Amino acid sequence: IHSDSWCVRYKADLEDKYTRRLSITTELKRALISQQNELSMVYQPKIDLQTMKVCSMEALIRWNNSVLGFVPPDEFITIAEQAGLIEQVTSWVMKQTISDLAYFREKGYGFTVAMNLSTQDIQNKVLLTKLVSLLTEEGLSPEALELEITESDLVADASLAIENLNELTARGFHFAIDDFGTGYSSLAYLKNLPVKTIKIDKSFILSLASDENDQQIVRTVLSLANVFNLKVVAEGVEDAASLDILKEWGCDIVQGYYISRPLSCADLESWLQNTPFG
Ligand code: C2E
Ligand code: CA
Ligand code: CA
Ligand code: CA
Repeated sequence: IHSDSWCVRYKADLEDKYTRRLSITTELKRALISQQNELSMVYQPKIDLQTMKVCSMEALIRWNNSVLGFVPPDEFITIAEQAGLIEQVTSWVMKQTISDLAYFREKGYGFTVAMNLSTQDIQNKVLLTKLVSLLTEEGLSPEALELEITESDLVADASLAIENLNELTARGFHFAIDDFGTGYSSLAYLKNLPVKTIKIDKSFILSLASDENDQQIVRTVLSLANVFNLKVVAEGVEDAASLDILKEWGCDIVQGYYISRPLSCADLESWLQNTPFG
């Protein structure tokens, strides 16, 4: 009876997972072609610790679906990758983000915008060519954009990804390594890649003010990054104490709820007019 009920529960769990995955896939396909504004971009400010001013915005996707409600990006991006939908999602993100960036540049703001690319995007020439032409159409240079990729993107299929990385760098694009510290690669390895920036994963930053292990790790990353001439962004800064520590230890840029949550374009505009970091 025991193993039977376990088995039933296990099967039900699998069915739940499968059903959710299927409805995410179906609804996402619909969302990508619908005119309902289900998908949107929000922007989270990054502050340069030397000037204490906004230097960049990370572009983050949001999806609000009438059937599924709010679906977290971590969840649907992973499913989109597996379902062969990521090219369409990233295309949508590129178009929206670059058009928003052009809008803010027109208003006189000089910040860069950081876009997240997933593993498959780095290997997709068609997508990368599209990126270049979208920028050209808006009269923006690649320097206006930063591209965030994770370490695993480079380890998974190194050769093509690195080839594309080098090509885009030659064109003036900048890359940042996201979620640094959660993967396997080291700063020494990054030295051979055209990467100028690392983002320390928020899991090391969230409790920085109270956790001595995190402090040890972050201090080590910062001093090594200094040796390798890498810029360091700390994400997940939620309090003043963490910001002060990071500033003291020579971190370059911070991002987190302490500065601001990710904001819609409209909210960002009013935030920019009222913030002491503006
Ligand atoms: P990520 O690239 O590491 O993005 C940072 C995440 O940390 C965001 O979650 C952001 O809202 C959250 N965050 C920022 N500051 C704080 C803080 O102070 N405390 C806490 N607890 N969290 C903070 P979000 O927006 O839910 O995105 C999750 C992940 O989904 C992203 O992680 C990224 O991997 C993926 N993602 C989001 N948008 C896109 C996109 O447009 N394209 C792709 N390929 N992936 C995306
Ligand atoms: Ca990111
Ligand atoms: Ca991250
Ligand atoms: Ca991530």
